[in-house]
Amino acid sequence: MANRNIIITGAAKGIGKACVEHFLNENETVIALDIDESALNQLDIKNSNLHCFTCDVSNGNAVKNTIKTAIEKVGNIDVLINNAGIQRYSTITETTEDEWDLVMNVNLKSAFLCAKYAIPSMQQKEKGVVINVSSVQAFITQKNVAPYTTSKTAMLGLTRSIAVDYAPNIRCVAVCPGTVDTPMLRDAIQESDNPEKVYQECIDMHLTKRICPPNEVAELIGFLASDKAGSITGQAFRVDGGLGIHIGGN
Ligand code: NAD
Repeated sequence: MANRNIIITGAAKGIGKACVEHFLNENETVIALDIDESALNQLDIKNSNLHCFTCDVSNGNAVKNTIKTAIEKVGNIDVLINNAGIQRYSTITETTEDEWDLVMNVNLKSAFLCAKYAIPSMQQKEKGVVINVSSVQAFITQKNVAPYTTSKTAMLGLTRSIAVDYAPNIRCVAVCPGTVDTPMLRDAIQESDNPEKVYQECIDMHLTKRICPPNEVAELIGFLASDKAGSITGQAFRVDGGLGIHIGGN
C-alpha cells in the first residue's frame, strides 16, 4: 500500500490539503499541485515525501510539463486526485462567457488534462486510480450556481468514461461532498450580510446537523484510492450528511 506516488490538485487548502496530510501520514509520496504558491509553501515542505508544484491545472501546457517533471522526479504516477475547483455565484443569464469558461476550465477541463497526462504512466504499470472530487451539486442544486453545478455533474460522466475506457487496471471514482469546512466555504459565507446566520443555516441543512471537516472527505478518498476498494469503479459517493434527501413532514 505505502509508497505510491499520488498527485493531488488544489492541494494547498481545504480538502486538497487534508488529502496531502492523509497520504503523507500513510507514508505515500505526494505531488501537490496548486495555483497558490504562497499557500503551497505553508504545507509540510520539509517532508521529503512531498513535492510541490505551482501549476494552473486548467492550462494544458502547464499540466503536461508539471506531470512530466513529477514523473521524472518520482518515477511514475499511481493515483490522481482531481480536487481543484472554484465556485462562482450566478444564473445562466447573469453568467458571462468568460466566467462560464473559467468555471468549466478549472473544475472540469483540469480533470481531463490531469487524467490525460497521468493515465499513460498508470498504464505502463498496469495499475492506477483516478478520484474526481465532484459535489452533491451533481445530484441536487441551489439557486445561482449554474456553471458550478453543470461542471460538477459533468464530472460524473468523465468518471464513467475513464472507468470504462481504462478498465480493468485503472479505476475511476467520484466523491461528492456536501458542505465542507474549507476556505471555499468560509470565503463564500463572508460575502453574505450575516455570515454567522448563513453558517448556522448550512449546519441545519444537513440531516447530521454538522458541517463536514475536510479530513473526513480525505478519509473517504483514501479508502477509494486503496486496494480495499478494488471492486469500486465508475461510481459516485456522496459524503454530504444526508443533504437534500428529506422530503419533509413527519
Ligand atoms: P478551497 O477553495 O478551500 O481550495 C481549493 C484549492 O484549489 C485552493 O488551494 C486553490 O488555490 C486551488 N485552485 C483553484 N484554482 C486552481 C487552479 N486553476 N489550478 C490549481 N489549483 C487551483 O476549496 P475546497 O472547499 O477545498 O474544495 C475542493 C474541491 O471540493 C473543489 O473541487 C470543490 O468544488 C469541491 N467541493 C467543496 C465543497 C465545500 O463545501 N467546501 C463541497 C462540495 C465540493
